[in-house]
Amino acid sequence: MRVARVSGRLALLTEAGAVDVEAASGGRFDADPDAVFARWDELREWAEDRPDGDGVPYADEQLGAPVLCPAQIFGIGLNYRDHAAESGVGVPATPAVFTKFASCLTGPYDTVRLPSAGVDWEVELVVVIGRRADDVAEENAWSHVAGLTVGQDLSERALQLAGPVPQFSLGKSYPGFGPLGPSIVTPDELPDPDDLELSCSVNEEVLQKGRTRDMVFSVPELVARLSAVCPLLPGDLIFTGTPPGVGMARIPPRFLSPGTTLVSRIEGVGQLRNPLVAR
Ligand code: ZN
Repeated sequence: MRVARVSGRLALLTEAGAVDVEAASGGRFDADPDAVFARWDELREWAEDRPDGDGVPYADEQLGAPVLCPAQIFGIGLNYRDHAAESGVGVPATPAVFTKFASCLTGPYDTVRLPSAGVDWEVELVVVIGRRADDVAEENAWSHVAGLTVGQDLSERALQLAGPVPQFSLGKSYPGFGPLGPSIVTPDELPDPDDLELSCSVNEEVLQKGRTRDMVFSVPELVARLSAVCPLLPGDLIFTGTPPGVGMARIPPRFLSPGTTLVSRIEGVGQLRNPLVAR
């Protein structure tokens, strides 16, 4: 199942297009995509019982971030060995956790304003929680995941590293710093949800390429470790970390420029395409 926000409304994506869930369910489900995660199992059952073949064509511009009001957003730093190495630190023994504030979330094709000349790219697999997870064991973790989507953890490096100790959250939370989408894909749609190729590029030049099997802490491990401390709630997001190739680690460092377009892809999940402009 693929679920998206089409013209602001909850929709199933089919081969034919988009199915408006509130209309097709006769009002059983709310049109607000953020309201569905508390009833995710019910939505899946309903969607499975529906006849195939319907759907209305839609344009990319109609798609918004599939989640806009999560109760919690977790970001994981240094979760790929080669990215930890390029950042000049060892492989973490415990996840490095920060947050992105929800006001940074934006749509998969939205234009992003760059607040400075020091904004970096980080393509990431994003987990959407579909069932409350309270101290969940690793082997049960996937059953608490609604689905996966593509995210960019855009980062203003000067602010991130300002202050007496690094303060990740604020520098990663300017408006537009969390492009998300284009849809939420349930894990059963993917041959192996623990091994997906992810990459990002600017104007056709590939900047990052990796595979999620190279994460230091896998999706089940992250769900287990985070939920051992705070309950994960339906609709919560986990930005699971970025593979090597960020701009800050390059010699000389390199950052995003206005007038270019950042494309972020994950195999089987989808692609973001965000034009960049100056603030
Ligand atoms: Zn990140």
